[in-house]
Amino acid sequence: MNQKMIVSKFGGTSMGDAACMRRSAEVSLKQGSNVIVVSATSGTTNLLIELAASAQKKSAWDQTEIILKKITESHLKIARDLGISTVSNTAVELNLLFIELESLAKGIHLLKDCSAKAFDYLQSFGERMSSLLFTDAMMQASRKEKATKDVRFLDSRTILKTDDQFGRARPLTELVINRATDILMPLLRSGVIFVTQGFIGETLEGNTTTLGRGGSDYSAAIIAEAVSADILEIWTDVPGIATTDPRLCADAKSLKEISFKEASELATF
Ligand code: ASP
Ligand code: MG
Repeated sequence: MNQKMIVSKFGGTSMGDAACMRRSAEVSLKQGSNVIVVSATSGTTNLLIELAASAQKKSAWDQTEIILKKITESHLKIARDLGISTVSNTAVELNLLFIELESLAKGIHLLKDCSAKAFDYLQSFGERMSSLLFTDAMMQASRKEKATKDVRFLDSRTILKTDDQFGRARPLTELVINRATDILMPLLRSGVIFVTQGFIGETLEGNTTTLGRGGSDYSAAIIAEAVSADILEIWTDVPGIATTDPRLCADAKSLKEISFKEASELATF
């Protein structure tokens, strides 16, 4: 194992397509990341939220089916572009997630009801799909660099236990640390690299929870604490820091250089 324990988190834009996933995988290997926490691919959590709203409407199932299709097609495209064979484990697992997601959407549609519990479960599919694809990208990158690292998929819900405030669950920190110590530490010490999901956790009863929008950074911080990481990296795939919010101001310019103090001021205002 490298000397330093490194937890790296990659946001939705870094999972955006196959090229982004490849680049993020190369970065992870180069950095010597031990645990990689990923967000859903960009736009997917929003689509899942739209899916919940659409499925609850009295209107026909068609509209919901269109959203479902958008979600599955975009993930299938990444799988294809990553060169993942349709008979591989990854493709089979991905397909199982699609089937489960469709069943859940149908259940919500039949009941015209999406409880906070069901809503969290629904949103968990974003990270579960992206992490599956990213694990494959990591394995490929490792083979390409002849690094032949032992890359493994980790269901973060086995470690990240939370209370049952669905939609804004809080980690049961002591339990998370205990589980990480028992389950992850021995494998991390022997050089295993884990790819896991941000944003999601699980109650003691086994129900899936989410930590709130943008919660993947928080997940990464909790996991970093639990494995006594030396470094926590939060990666994002944007052109840099701009003079102002480019979503609000079309003529925002990217800055070549910025001090920490200036960046902090920009963030505040
Ligand atoms: N995918 C979740 C969201 O869009 C969590 C995250 O990306 O941090 O809010
Ligand atoms: Mg984010």
